[in-house]
Amino acid sequence: MAVRFERGSCFCGAIVAELEGEPFWINYDHDDDCRKAIGGPLTVWIGYPKDKVAFTNKGPRTFSKTPGIERGFCPDCGSSISYVDAGLRNEIRITIGFMDHPERFKPVAHGSWRMKLPWVDFADALPRFPSYTRERDVAIGYPDKRKVEDKKD
Ligand SMILES: [Zn+2]
Repeated sequence: MAVRFERGSCFCGAIVAELEGEPFWINYDHDDDCRKAIGGPLTVWIGYPKDKVAFTNKGPRTFSKTPGIERGFCPDCGSSISYVDAGLRNEIRITIGFMDHPERFKPVAHGSWRMKLPWVDFADALPRFPSYTRERDVAIGYPDKRKVEDKKD
């Protein structure tokens, strides 16, 4: 069977990625940090093993607010592209909007359902996780426990 290949690109086209194989996880995300970072009421994240995503020209620029988390974006057009969490080893999440064929990626769950905006309605039967949909490395913990305000000297 042929290996699946997908392509992603930002709004201006400066950043392009080739993605190999099947994504291991696709979820809606109602998280408030992601809402701020991305600018939409919710997003869909597509999870791939890090080594299956190749940026062909240059990689996204990254920004980190929460220790261990890097959000990737295009410095030219501002498209949100990626999310990498140190607590999720060898995983990268790609925004659905970055994909050239977003219709091929169907979510399997809702994450951070407790943060869903009250006027967002879904009639689907997908599982609704109140918080994170994926387990983090116990040594690193969950992002909400890593916020800078929580640090003690
Ligand atoms: Zn761009």
